[in-house]
Amino acid sequence: MLSKHCPACDAPLVKYKGEIWCPICEKRVVIVKDDAEAYAVSLPYRLLEVEQIIVDKIVELARKAQSESDPESLKIIGENLDVWLSAFERIRKVRGK
Ligand SMILES: [Zn+2]
Repeated sequence: MLSKHCPACDAPLVKYKGEIWCPICEKRVVIVKDDAEAYAVSLPYRLLEVEQIIVDKIVELARKAQSESDPESLKIIGENLDVWLSAFERIRKVRGK
């Protein structure tokens, strides 16, 4: 058990396999010294969240296309898919994937 506490549930944190964990939240906790380090540590996770949102939008549009038969509506869906697929490619590049 460490002297630090979980920022979410206030349980005492534990060290497990070289990492700090909250046994209650069952999540890894990263202790940072300032806002700049917090930003740097959280950035990959925040970008991953953006990528997941983009993928959700792509799936949503593809499902919409599946049930659509009007050519004009399909064209608009296709154009939107193109935009979101470009965003997906760019976020993957930004994330180094
Ligand atoms: Zn916790």
